[in-house]
Amino acid sequence: MTGLSAETKMQFLFALRSRGVTDARVLAAMEQIDRGKFVKGLFADRAYEDTPLPIACGQTISQPSVVGLMTQALDVRPRDTVLEIGTGSGYQAAVLSKLARRVYTVERHKRLVRETGDLFRELGLTNVTAMLTDGSFGLPEQAPFDRIIVTAAAEDPPGPLLAQLKIGGIMVLPVGQSDTVQTLIRVRRTETGLDYDELLPVRFVPLLEGLGKDEA
Ligand code: SAH
Repeated sequence: MTGLSAETKMQFLFALRSRGVTDARVLAAMEQIDRGKFVKGLFADRAYEDTPLPIACGQTISQPSVVGLMTQALDVRPRDTVLEIGTGSGYQAAVLSKLARRVYTVERHKRLVRETGDLFRELGLTNVTAMLTDGSFGLPEQAPFDRIIVTAAAEDPPGPLLAQLKIGGIMVLPVGQSDTVQTLIRVRRTETGLDYDELLPVRFVPLLEGLGKDEA
């Protein structure tokens, strides 16, 4: 966020803190990644407000405080390999790239994969790769993962994703029976099974099957 006025930057970080994003490493990562680069066209001038905004392919870039809270709950360590399901604008993946060793992010819309790939290169984020695939099946060729984050809502945690989580690994995802009522949950894989905890109410676009229509 180098080109921004000190005031805009301060307000952005203040909003994050006031919503409970207190982890210094997460705040530093979010200070480094300019959200304005990930919002295009009409809504670009609202990039530093704490609000979700429309992006291409009828999708949304998540609210910054939700990105912060999810990243914080994921508790990423510097040597971790992270999988994100739902690249969207690429913003969440870019923030993760500042905290992890390696980030894979998968998306069902080809256009979003292409545009975010270009943006990651432009920003010099060399440890994050966007790939076109149905993320409900995870990314078996790179599994297992230390951390998995899902930024689209399913009814339950998808089985293939749970199977691709290392022992000691953490997955953060929204689950819910409808488009309007969802809960952000955290799943930890232990030696003996899975521990679940509920974090906060959220609202995400649904996790859909197959690739986007632009690929048909
Ligand atoms: N993390 C994004 C916001 C994601 S919006 C950001 O930082 O901007 C959710 C995204 O999940 C959408 O782009 C949608 O196309 C994608 N998605 C939905 N179902 C999917 C699936 N099965 N596999 C991969 N991506 C999916």
